[in-house]
Amino acid sequence: MIDPDLLEPLDLLELRGVSRDFGSFKAVDAVSLAVRAGTRHAVIGPNGAGKSTLFSLISGTLPATAGSLLLDGRDVTRLPVNRRVGLGIATTFQHSSLFMRETALENVLLAVVRRAGSGLGIGRPLRSRRTALARAHALLDQVGLPSRHDTPAAELSHGERRQLEVAVALATEPRLLLLDEPAAGMSPVETARLTEVVAALPGEVTVLLIEHDLDMVFELANVVTVMHLGRHLTTGSPAEVRASPEVQAAYLGTMEVTR
Ligand code: ADP
Ligand code: MG
Repeated sequence: MIDPDLLEPLDLLELRGVSRDFGSFKAVDAVSLAVRAGTRHAVIGPNGAGKSTLFSLISGTLPATAGSLLLDGRDVTRLPVNRRVGLGIATTFQHSSLFMRETALENVLLAVVRRAGSGLGIGRPLRSRRTALARAHALLDQVGLPSRHDTPAAELSHGERRQLEVAVALATEPRLLLLDEPAAGMSPVETARLTEVVAALPGEVTVLLIEHDLDMVFELANVVTVMHLGRHLTTGSPAEVRASPEVQAAYLGTMEVTR
């Protein structure tokens, strides 16, 4: 007889009691969380709740001080950032990591080439250079920048830069895409466009999204986690989270004040 566990869909990412201390302060406090493959999973909570720190623990830019992280059931707790990228974890940062003097195309091409593990120098077969270029062009179209391929990153609007960052992240062919406040500082039009881009990502890209724009969260997410004071408060459907009195007290109430 087949073990029923084998028929269960696997969690792409699992956090088991993950913590991050800064001295005696617990920025992330024993968070346990499962992220199903293919979900659009939002993490919300007031400023200082520990959301960005949690993302750093997942991407590996900060080591966890306790607990463990599993990707596809494999323990990645001790793996450095580059190994995690290789396993399919991609991040866009709250602060831009683009090359400002290079064009949008050059920014994406660099990431495509890195992923392919090859340079575009003399002696590279023409075919792989063409393939990389075609892929970079396709990614820029995919994120909604069809007319900006040759524009230097410095000349893009704030919203377009965030779109470009998503293209750069997608170039690594991620299975898990971490987006930390992608709509921060965006105009409503830019936010709507980015929402469309994220919604249109293929199902094999699982998205974990920190966002203050609750309209974006409730439009995109099929699972919402609420954090508060470093702790995991609740995880549920958008409707469940919206209706939770505990969440309204801890999060939605304070949002009224901080906005
Ligand atoms: P959020 O993204 O939910 O707003 P953060 O994860 O950025 O929250 O921060 C959570 C808490 O951890 C905050 O109180 C912040 O000041 C603290 N913190 C974050 N990074 C550091 C650090 N490198 N050193 C000390 N404290 C930090
Ligand atoms: Mg943050």
